[in-house]
Amino acid sequence: MGDSMPICGAQVNGARGSGWMRSGGERERWSVGYTGPMPELPEVETIARGLDKRLAGDRIAEVWIGDKTNLLKSPAAEIARVLEGARIARFRRVGKHIVGDLESREGPAQWVIHLGMTGRCLVCEPGVELAKHTHLIATLGSGRELRFVDPRRFGKLAVRAGHGFAAPGAEPIAADRGEFVALFKGRKTPIKSALLNQRLLSGIGNIYADESLFRAGVRPRRRAAGLTRAELMRLYDGIQEVLAEAIAAGGSSINDYVDASGESGFFQLQHRVYQRTGEACLVCGAGIRRVVVAGRSSHYCPTCQR
Ligand code: ZN
Repeated sequence: MGDSMPICGAQVNGARGSGWMRSGGERERWSVGYTGPMPELPEVETIARGLDKRLAGDRIAEVWIGDKTNLLKSPAAEIARVLEGARIARFRRVGKHIVGDLESREGPAQWVIHLGMTGRCLVCEPGVELAKHTHLIATLGSGRELRFVDPRRFGKLAVRAGHGFAAPGAEPIAADRGEFVALFKGRKTPIKSALLNQRLLSGIGNIYADESLFRAGVRPRRRAAGLTRAELMRLYDGIQEVLAEAIAAGGSSINDYVDASGESGFFQLQHRVYQRTGEACLVCGAGIRRVVVAGRSSHYCPTCQR
């Protein structure tokens, strides 16, 4: 494969890890990253916004790729060829992917990043010590570096031609009410399963499904097709609210994120039902219940949700 070969004039793998520090350089580093459980839509949205804010308009001068190739979904040489010399038009979220729209030497192209479980994107000054498990370094025209770090390597890196990368399901934030209602027509599965089905809606995970069902007053095991239009409208509103709150919270906490609980994730979004089994409902005081739907823990209030 030749994947551990130097790529396009970049350093041989490993060469950058050995005591390589810039002397006297500032240690400015921030992480648009994540060290907790699987990133969900708000986390990915926040990270994509962070990258966009910092990197849009910059150019990728040089790329170094390590020898752990299982996270490369395009050949290493192709990733290097597309990225090197490309101008970054923008970063944005598509489903749970971070997508960089590029103007590459070969025309419009995209850099598609999936964080998997433990993937992080770091933007830093070149002298900052390399984190363990750094798999890709893009040296930018501005002198900074974008590094992809992923200890467990469930992340994915790919490049593709054009700007047309699309997630399989509807975009929960962009979908309108009509589109949303149509997704559940004739679906006999529990509404909770339908919300988690990435072919229907892209990027809704367990926390946000439970929280939006609570706001809608709908129990997780209800058949999707059995929900009234009014219930679906409340569910639509609930999803919009929960995601907007989580994104707003993430935007302010991203620089110093510490995953205190090891479980609840990235943001300070106050969970009303998620993982509050046995605790009092914040609205009515009833005990929150837990039920397993499609193999996933689901939490609901027996009084507020019908
Ligand atoms: Zn309640």
